[in-house]
Amino acid sequence: MKETIIEMEKYAKEYNVPIIEKDSIKFIMKYIKLNNVKSILEIGTAIGYSGILMTSANEGVELTTIERDEKRYMEAVKNVKKCGLEHQIEVVFQDALDVNLIGRSYDMIFIDAAKGQYIKFFEKFSHYLKPNGVIITDNIKFHGLVGNRNADMSKNLNSLVSKIEDYIEFLKTNKEFTTKFYDIGDGLSISYRNNDEKR
Ligand code: SAH
Ligand code: MG
Repeated sequence: MKETIIEMEKYAKEYNVPIIEKDSIKFIMKYIKLNNVKSILEIGTAIGYSGILMTSANEGVELTTIERDEKRYMEAVKNVKKCGLEHQIEVVFQDALDVNLIGRSYDMIFIDAAKGQYIKFFEKFSHYLKPNGVIITDNIKFHGLVGNRNADMSKNLNSLVSKIEDYIEFLKTNKEFTTKFYDIGDGLSISYRNNDEKR
């Protein structure tokens, strides 16, 4: 498994796949272990890097992970098999906004897909959170650009930064969830449902 992880890191560099930063995945893995997380939903598989590491962070974790890009999906399925995790990880090849998960629920939801759709993902998938479950979001700093724009940014990039800022505002003003923001990696947030047990 360790070898496959290193191969995946190389692949990500070579093909420009935006996998999670080391500090961030370490932080999430620790959270999974400490809180005995057993079921995870990941939005944005890419090649399976974060999914495989999250699954290996605790005994008996089951992961559902969604990816809409066919090449990355195929790569993820291959990597999951290489790590012998095909009985614990289900990779779904579909746009997350079209996926139907009725009847399922998760201890943790990890949002790490199209940055412009974060509010939509949160609104859709928060319904699949178990009591005391959490929603973790990656890239809340968006390469350090959030709150720190520069003059030569393209219109497209500017608009993505605005969308992340909107998401942060959405989390800060959310009446159902309280969110903690962490300055780790590219920025992480953890959202807790207000009426759940105090932690
Ligand atoms: N979690 C991965 C990295 C994910 S990169 C890791 O850290 O290893 C983000 C991925 O989300 C991309 O591969 C992109 O194709 C996918 N994605 C973006 N929007 C999506 C959507 N609406 N539905 C499913 N996948 C999406
Ligand atoms: Mg990310």
